[in-house]
Amino acid sequence: MEELEISQKFKDYFELNMEQILRYKHKGRKWVKINYEDILLFDCDLAEDLLNEPEEVINIGEAVLNELDLPNYMKLRIFNLPPNQEKQIWQVRGTDVGPFISLIGIINKIGDVYHECASIKFECPSCGNILNVLQEEGKELKSPTKCGCGRKGKLRALKKELYDVIKIGIIDDLMDESNQNRMVAKEKLAILSKDLTDELIDKELKVGRKVKLSGYFKYMQVKNSTEFKSIFYINYIEFVEVGWDIVELTTEDEKEFEKLSQDENLLQDMANSIADVEGFEQAKMACLLLLVGAPHLYDLNNHLQSRGTIHILLIGNPGVAKTYIAKRAGSISPINSFQSAATASGKGLVASVNQDKDLGMWVAYPGVVPMSHKGVVVIDEIDKTNPEDYGDHNNAMNDMIVPIAKSNVKAKLATETSYLATANPENRVFVNEISFYDQINMPKDFLDRFDIIFPLVTSQDKNKRDKIMDKMIGRHFDNEEDAVWKPKYNHNTIMKYIAYCRRKKPKPILSKSLSPLIKAQLHELMTPKGDNQERVSFRQLESLLRFAYASARLNLRDIQKEDILFSFELKKKSFSDLGIIDEAGNFNWAKLENVDIKKIKVEDQIKNILNMMFEEKGKEIDMQEVIMNCSKENIEEEDFDKYFAREKQKGNFFEPRRGKISKL
Ligand SMILES: [Zn+2]
Repeated sequence: MEELEISQKFKDYFELNMEQILRYKHKGRKWVKINYEDILLFDCDLAEDLLNEPEEVINIGEAVLNELDLPNYMKLRIFNLPPNQEKQIWQVRGTDVGPFISLIGIINKIGDVYHECASIKFECPSCGNILNVLQEEGKELKSPTKCGCGRKGKLRALKKELYDVIKIGIIDDLMDESNQNRMVAKEKLAILSKDLTDELIDKELKVGRKVKLSGYFKYMQVKNSTEFKSIFYINYIEFVEVGWDIVELTTEDEKEFEKLSQDENLLQDMANSIADVEGFEQAKMACLLLLVGAPHLYDLNNHLQSRGTIHILLIGNPGVAKTYIAKRAGSISPINSFQSAATASGKGLVASVNQDKDLGMWVAYPGVVPMSHKGVVVIDEIDKTNPEDYGDHNNAMNDMIVPIAKSNVKAKLATETSYLATANPENRVFVNEISFYDQINMPKDFLDRFDIIFPLVTSQDKNKRDKIMDKMIGRHFDNEEDAVWKPKYNHNTIMKYIAYCRRKKPKPILSKSLSPLIKAQLHELMTPKGDNQERVSFRQLESLLRFAYASARLNLRDIQKEDILFSFELKKKSFSDLGIIDEAGNFNWAKLENVDIKKIKVEDQIKNILNMMFEEKGKEIDMQEVIMNCSKENIEEEDFDKYFAREKQKGNFFEPRRGKISKL
């Protein structure tokens, strides 16, 4: 169609829809939102032209719109493009540059607000004529070299018209059904401008959020190169909700689930439906409860008191199916991702800060953890984590938010993400003689973030081993009747059921009457036999309550005695499998807290010897004498050397002369 014809059609369309336009006007909006379908119903040709040449057609439409009596310039924002215009990022090719398309993806970076020049007004010094020169995005500034009056040479620039721009990065959502076979997410740069940068939208712009954009690609030449990039100019942005909250449930589903919640074997049956792996019942049940989650608790000032996300660590020899279970369980969550800590080197699992060429600034890139916000992240071989990342993990797991302050980047990444991690024992395989807990080579602080740790060890029992093999061989049978593994629920049902529980029981009530039971159980769990010292850990208490909440939620009830007892059973199983509770039932506090009691005793003795000698001899004592006194108490010279070296480094002692010790 000719420009005039398009203009006329827009005039007619706006006249027909004047009421709608006036509504936007009265609200003081800077845009008019139009459903593409309405244009299609109004005029097929206009709708088609809009798809083929969106930039031109929208410009004409806006010119017509703004001839109306409007208080401010209004943009045309068009949404709901036909489904065949929908593209994933990886699908974008040269033929997609130009036409109106809707692009679906996840925001992975957000630039600062900058200002683009729309036009410049020039004045002719000779005749006083004023010329308004429109500027093109991404091109050099244009200025007139002559005036109508005959004057040649530069005119005087008067005023620049600027508008706001925010650049964002968009990547494929690998969880999207259309992308199931994609392994790598592709990235495109997209531009929000003018009214699309207002506070209402800016507030919603967060890395990790899924968006559906209407707009068009334009080519941009890479400087001093024959290469071109395609950049997406956004006309309309829509935030797409994902996760447990939007799982669709029918009334029939809800009826069925109410009945299901009464089933006594619900937890076991669902846990066993996670994966066709024999055994490891408690670990599977814990994984199911991780998906169900507990409520987050906030104090009166709205500060997080206790997170509701549950974190689980599965440790076992290679080939023991721990990754298999973790992956299967994780995949039930509507938001989930998988990453091996061993292959994530360089880029952090939580966040990394890099200079971004497209945005021209330092940017915080979210890792898989914030990308799985409100979902589950399965991290394989988490013991291979880059030591620099531990701090970020600690924040992500405990506070559900990671602050970033590196290279001028100040950002916060939301991480309401459950960790379902696996690790190998220190020497790749568990050695039977040593407690399993001593064979986990990870920092204590980090281990403490996990609500429960399960060592998965293949049974030595022949019958049990046969059962494992049966299940594995059964995977290869074609005939359904021969199937060895017959799960009661499929993953989709479990996902929907959990979504229902999370909605129906956002916060199961913990009644005060259960408090004595919880305290008694914790004392029993954590008091070593024959030891009167109280060893109760408040961290363990929090973890135990999380599982009790999840268990109650799964049964659509408030917390009951059974939920508490079950939660303690899980913990006991974990403690005894790890060797924190020994075969005789003795709880070993020093082991759990990684305290070397013998070392503490020896150091106390050395301290006493030194103190006594300083009291006796004054400022300076003889090192050989100290060592002699130590050996009288059966303290090895080596232990003294270690202790002394550390204290010297701390600045508590120094050597005034060779072989002499003084206090600072
Ligand atoms: Zn002039």
